[in-house]
Amino acid sequence: MRVTILGCYSATPRTFTNPTAQVLEINNQIFLIDCGEGTQVQLRRHKIKFSRIKHIFISHLHGDHFYGLIGLISTFRLLKRDAPLHIYGPKGIKEAIVLQLKLSNSWTDYPLHFHELTSKESEVIHEDEHVSVTTIPLQHRVYCNGFLFKEKEGDRRLILSKVLNYNIDKAYYRSIKKGKDITLDDGTIVKNEELTEEPNPIKSYAFCSDTKYDEAKVPLIKGVTALYHESTFLESHKHLCETTGHSSAVEAATIAKKAEVGTLVLGHYSTRYGDISLFKEEAETVFDKVEVADDGKVFEF
Ligand SMILES: [Zn+2]
Ligand SMILES: [Zn+2]
Repeated sequence: MRVTILGCYSATPRTFTNPTAQVLEINNQIFLIDCGEGTQVQLRRHKIKFSRIKHIFISHLHGDHFYGLIGLISTFRLLKRDAPLHIYGPKGIKEAIVLQLKLSNSWTDYPLHFHELTSKESEVIHEDEHVSVTTIPLQHRVYCNGFLFKEKEGDRRLILSKVLNYNIDKAYYRSIKKGKDITLDDGTIVKNEELTEEPNPIKSYAFCSDTKYDEAKVPLIKGVTALYHESTFLESHKHLCETTGHSSAVEAATIAKKAEVGTLVLGHYSTRYGDISLFKEEAETVFDKVEVADDGKVFEF
């Protein structure tokens, strides 16, 4: 599982920092999460192929999370894309995009599917045989969802030496991986446990931005491999969290600790701060597995 941070600063783009966008690669699929201004440039810079993007998840309709979307949709058209594109986001996102396409008379030639979200409860919004995506309702100034990406359990893993030892034909490998026992030519039954190991552990990634401190999401993200949680402010400005609907580094770490996550990744920093290592320092007073996101940084989990 790989996360490429395209942008992780709040509010306005600057010379060297970008608003929120990231790419999650999980089970050989790519998901774009949020699409702040400049996202297509960042995708180019980090050599992520546009054609691999089939699903885009937008947390909320603040500009620093979706003002790059119309540009990306338009570029896909200019590149003569024909594959469908699915966009998941709050109700209103379709109107916001379609109006711009209409006024510029630049309808896409490829199918554009909007999946508008309104529920305040967690719900599964995308699912295939490898991955499921579930919303994480967040508390912000406008309707906002985080997203939980979770691998599905894979096949059991063959112990090749054992299988070869019994001279089992390759044609049976698939059913062995699915958990079946094998009957040899002499009638002996070989139990599946002898031939296979447990499947690879399931990996999961939770994206939570933007949100104020809210423990309601803890059960939803319990034990995830990695949690990206916004930390807009340091302790020196924690009084701003409640009014702006944001979290501090310490609050993000408290959520990570309560949810017993594998790794906490901090981001969505206010651009008033010069040194983002302070976010890590403050979060580590509560939780010890903390990473700081930064534009262009790649995490492997
Ligand atoms: Zn934001
Ligand atoms: Zn916001």
